[in-house]
Amino acid sequence: MIKRIVVTGGAGFLGSHICERLVDDGHDVICLDNFFTSQKSNVAHLLDRPNFELIRHDIVHPIWLEVDEIYNMACPAAPGHYQYNPIKTLKTSVVGAINMLGMAKRCNAKILQASTSEVYGDPEVHPQIEDYRGSVNPIGPRACYDEGKRAAETLFADYNRMHRLRIKLVRIFNTYGPRMHPFDGRVVSNFIRQALANEPITIFGDGSQTRSFCYRDDLCEGIIRLMNSPDDLIEPVNIGNPGEYTIGELAKMIVELTESSSELVYRPLPADDPTRRQPNIDRAKRHLDWEPQIGLREGLTKTIEWFKTIDAEQFRPPTPNY
Ligand code: NAD
Ligand code: UDP
Repeated sequence: MIKRIVVTGGAGFLGSHICERLVDDGHDVICLDNFFTSQKSNVAHLLDRPNFELIRHDIVHPIWLEVDEIYNMACPAAPGHYQYNPIKTLKTSVVGAINMLGMAKRCNAKILQASTSEVYGDPEVHPQIEDYRGSVNPIGPRACYDEGKRAAETLFADYNRMHRLRIKLVRIFNTYGPRMHPFDGRVVSNFIRQALANEPITIFGDGSQTRSFCYRDDLCEGIIRLMNSPDDLIEPVNIGNPGEYTIGELAKMIVELTESSSELVYRPLPADDPTRRQPNIDRAKRHLDWEPQIGLREGLTKTIEWFKTIDAEQFRPPTPNY
């Protein structure tokens, strides 16, 4: 059945890929984006498709549309981006969620929230299961993002309890791939950019902290499966790749894959930087029959190929923090 679907943050790294998938499936897709951390080039190839529509809109302000489904992806995701204007980040997560939930309630639409592994903070439970409630500093530099996403989950749960709204909560773990903003300051984009330019690779701390990296296509497949899952699946679902690597290991792999002559340099660890992160994906396997298909080496190779094709001058850094 053809559905009318809104994707907020639809011009971003993940949102643009979800728009592409939904347009290819024949749905009527409306992309809402204020282009804070993205550019139109991410969706330029969709603009002449009759079932795609692009609206420049900030979700902190209400909008009146008639829809069947909403993917709420809008929010700056990289630490440098979300810390640039932390108050705006919190407003996007909380006020933006209220606006989208209001639209879902009025239209009786199903709504999915792009939540994050950051709701677990610096976790005491490893790997992270969805029932773990997290360890977040409410007043630290990451709080605008972490607490905003936690409050958005609360809103979703309450709209479900109060209004029987059909909700989906996906907790996304670190994801990488083509169309990442080259100046977002995230570890994969920084290291690839530095390696391709044979510049020093900046490891924060001693590089022993871990992350689990999921390739974009795997992630988007999981999100779309979750949206299409039965209505009684309202609990949060982790989507990520359980392969866990230290940041030092990631740096060495990227140097090897790019055949770079970059040296590794060590910089201070940012405040509240989580020491480890790895998803337990049993719930996704059980309910969505989903698990990632693309390993880190293969995904990095595809991402490096994309970075080689882009002209970095075409990407406007949204913040000076890269
Ligand atoms: P991104 O920065 O590329 O995409 C976010 C998009 O939202 C951008 O196009 C941006 O311009 C837009 N946006 C920001 N504020 C807005 C507002 N107020 N109104 C309208 N549009 C707005 O980041 P991404 O990596 O594609 O992340 C997408 C979503 O997934 C985010 O909600 C993020 O928190 C979540 N997520 C991503 C990751 C990851 O590793 N990429 C991990 C966890 C969660
Ligand atoms: N990091 C790093 N060098 C960089 C950028 C990031 O060592 O140039 C580290 C960062 O301190 C963190 C990890 O890489 O421990 C992942 O950072 P990222 O910003 O990609 O995402 P996070 O998972 O922290 O939100």
